[in-house]
Amino acid sequence: MKYEAVIGLEVHAQLQTNTKIFCGCETRFGEDANTRTCPVCIGMPGVLPVLNRKAVEYIVKTGLATHCTINPSSRFARKNYFYPDLPKGYQISQYELPVCEHGYVEIVADGKVKRVGLTRIHLEEDAGKNLHQAEGGASLVDLNRAGTPLMEIVSEPDIRTPEEASEYLKKLRSILRYIEVSDADMEKGNFRCDANVSIRPTGSTEFGTRAEIKNVNSFKFVQKAIEYEIKRQAQILDEGGRVVQETRLFDSSKGVTFSMRSKEEAHDYRYFPEPDLVPVVVSRETVEQIAKTIPELPDAKRTRFVQDYGLPEYDADMLTQSRALAAYFEEATKRSNQPKVVSNWMMGELMRLMNAEGKEIEDCPIMPERLAGMIKMIGEGVISTKIAKTVFEEMYKSGKDAETVVKEQGLVQVSDTGAIESIIDEVIKANPAQASDYKAGKEKLFGFFVGQVMKASKGKANPDMVNQLLKKKLSE
Ligand code: ADP
Ligand code: MG
Ligand code: ZN
Repeated sequence: MKYEAVIGLEVHAQLQTNTKIFCGCETRFGEDANTRTCPVCIGMPGVLPVLNRKAVEYIVKTGLATHCTINPSSRFARKNYFYPDLPKGYQISQYELPVCEHGYVEIVADGKVKRVGLTRIHLEEDAGKNLHQAEGGASLVDLNRAGTPLMEIVSEPDIRTPEEASEYLKKLRSILRYIEVSDADMEKGNFRCDANVSIRPTGSTEFGTRAEIKNVNSFKFVQKAIEYEIKRQAQILDEGGRVVQETRLFDSSKGVTFSMRSKEEAHDYRYFPEPDLVPVVVSRETVEQIAKTIPELPDAKRTRFVQDYGLPEYDADMLTQSRALAAYFEEATKRSNQPKVVSNWMMGELMRLMNAEGKEIEDCPIMPERLAGMIKMIGEGVISTKIAKTVFEEMYKSGKDAETVVKEQGLVQVSDTGAIESIIDEVIKANPAQASDYKAGKEKLFGFFVGQVMKASKGKANPDMVNQLLKKKLSE
């Protein structure tokens, strides 16, 4: 590879507080336009903001969960710009002194654990929403969303590939969900991402000029947008040109990024300290209290899964994506004592069936103890792994346990020597040419015979026994 990419992500996550960040309006959505508003969040002159304590608690929790320093005192700042969805003409945000700084998140990339640094996490208010499809060509403004609490999480430029970017976002989402501060749903706009991308000659330690791609709204698109951007910049450098610093947008239908504004057109936000709010002071005691409410987090769980259950990093990472998924794994493992087998079934068949229906593990029709029951039946030789796939699908469809499914459908594995031998005899008799070829040295035909016997037994013959008995019979 001639170039290496340097990527830093800025994520806006909506905090799941009941009310807005500086007023008592509810943060409910899908309501009629402008019904969740008050003089504070529509920016009437003379009103004063009052900080939502819960929002502070949630950002501190996030900072602790991502190994940040929690600043004992931080400040709000005004970020000034003009846009109709911003009624005050400025957004209350944080600038020099955010609540959290210097953290990191761990991701698993190429089977290895990698740290992505966090520069800062700060609090700010969301803007309203402009609706441009109104009758008569008018644009309307809905301020229900104005004043919704957001956290901006800024990463260091530590990410090197589009895949790492996607892993980072998934890990961040999963942490926010574990600690229940945000539902971090990208589709709902509760988790928005700006991607900063530059490239440099591989081996170089200096950073190249970056482009910032704004508001990409799905994990897949983030990856696609970065991939495109890397190619675009590489082509510019290859042709002897220079990348310009600018803000770009991603067109998901064309799979390309395009320029939105250049550095020259960039806003001057004229930040200054917010005079209407006192500094945010978070005491040591408060931090300690909040720390106690943090559950075992995905990284710690992943490490424990590797150590205690001997799982590969990859499996452990996948299975700790959500608390419910991890709990399912642990329950099924406790009852079957076969962690890797449980992991294989969960990451294979289970996820395949659930993804096909867009289901979450919480709605899984197969209880963990039932998966364990099925795995035990495989271990005891009652059913083969192959038949187990059929059993599993039926369990998923009907909600029945493995034993019932096996009994009802007559899927018990045939491990009776006599029965298997008679099937083998028939297969050999029906394929005399292949049998003599095999005996003459065409050993590849062995697989053909295994296949025929399994087919004749409708997949129920014990595969180990079929192998053994076939070898014997074919050399007779
Ligand atoms: P801004 O306020 O203009 O968005 P910041 O300094 O806050 O600028 O940086 C925003 C993001 O850009 C951070 O995530 C940072 O890691 C990333 N970043 C900074 N320099 C580069 C670069 N040369 N290439 C890629 N990403 C970068
Ligand atoms: Mg930025
Ligand atoms: Zn309000």
